[in-house]
Amino acid sequence: MDAGLDKVQAIWEKETAVVEGMDISGPWNRMFEQRVIWEYTPDLIDQIASIEGAESFAWCYQCAKCVPVCPVDVVGDYGPRKLYRKSQTGIDWTQGPDLWLCTTCANCLRVCPKLVDMVQIMPALREQALLSGNNVPAELQEALENTFRYGNPLGQPPRKRDAWVKKAGVPVPLLYKEKRPVEWLWWVECYPSYHPRGIDASIALAKIFNALAIDFGILGREEKCAGDSQRLAGEKGLFEMLAEQNIATLSKYEFERMVVTDPHALNAFRKYYPKYGGEYEVWHYTQLLVQHLDRLRELMTQPLNRKVTFHDPCYLGRHNGEYEAPRQLIQALPGVEFVEMWRCRENGYCCGGGGGGMWLDGYVVNYQRRRLSEQRVLEAIATGADTLVVVCPYEVSRFEDAVKSTGNEGKLEVKDIAELIAEAMGV
Ligand code: SF4
Ligand code: SF4
Repeated sequence: MDAGLDKVQAIWEKETAVVEGMDISGPWNRMFEQRVIWEYTPDLIDQIASIEGAESFAWCYQCAKCVPVCPVDVVGDYGPRKLYRKSQTGIDWTQGPDLWLCTTCANCLRVCPKLVDMVQIMPALREQALLSGNNVPAELQEALENTFRYGNPLGQPPRKRDAWVKKAGVPVPLLYKEKRPVEWLWWVECYPSYHPRGIDASIALAKIFNALAIDFGILGREEKCAGDSQRLAGEKGLFEMLAEQNIATLSKYEFERMVVTDPHALNAFRKYYPKYGGEYEVWHYTQLLVQHLDRLRELMTQPLNRKVTFHDPCYLGRHNGEYEAPRQLIQALPGVEFVEMWRCRENGYCCGGGGGGMWLDGYVVNYQRRRLSEQRVLEAIATGADTLVVVCPYEVSRFEDAVKSTGNEGKLEVKDIAELIAEAMGV
């Protein structure tokens, strides 16, 4: 008999058990033996927890609450507890794909009794990988390089950032031309400036702002990526550079508040830009629109005849606590039946785009049964909805691709809420 098996049997088969003077020997009394499940070393856990930002990894006590809520585990094999367990068994997951699968969606943090914080742990570990140049997926590297060179992850020329304005059909004031104070500085961000479907939503939002007589202006070609997803992908240095450049640009203009299209930009401006001296009052566009709900109701006269469901962006909901504004807007749309998906609000599923996932779609598919965006599209279709409403610029293109790749073309339309409001207004 080999030594390992012998050891296992020794654990399970105690010959005698005497408890308080009573002999209770029997095969079942193995429960009175210490059951060594595995031999492990805490070395890797200590090593991870010694990295600034990743300290909480060592606090895990393996309750496993995090695993069923992890969106990556739904389509694969993941979650903080599983990573902790791998570390115990000496598997250095930081050197493989596990380092890149977490989308920093924060659903595990929501349920973790020990506050093991993957939103801090992952960027800290990824920074090490980026600094060493090991285990960095090529497509992520390209997006980071694009951001460094062009100020946007798509690799588009900076001067084309405001080209969409010419197609808007309504005034979109460019502050570098108009040089006047505005009430709202609209931070458009990269995908709404360059991606065709993002531009559709930007044009719709510009039309709504004009119809509501909102006094706004944009930075246009002077704006650079806010950088939050690059920071979460481990590129803290790039984030700092972008923050400093953007803060310098913003300091040239007078405005009362900022409105952002992108929940990731919202997160950056609210939580991280103040550390670099950029303190602003920042609202998500759904929060601004909902302030004008009465007027919007008057303007939205065209019934849409849709059955819609809604995807909560992780960085608007869990990260920044806004669940109601998008729902109030959806419920005000004329001719719309609204159904929730079963994973929603605090337990909303992740589209897979956060934490650098936007630039890892080709990579993650090798390690998951399907992409998170595909899983979410299937959940949306299961509600019987014909329209999936989104309020984050990452999501329109992600979900439209997922509708196609799951073979559901024609069954589900993906629309930014601004597109639906503009449609109902007939503008
Ligand atoms: S919920 Fe927290 S403590 Fe429990 S297993 Fe997950 S990471 Fe560990
Ligand atoms: S942050 Fe989200 S994706 Fe990452 S481990 Fe936690 S639940 Fe999973």
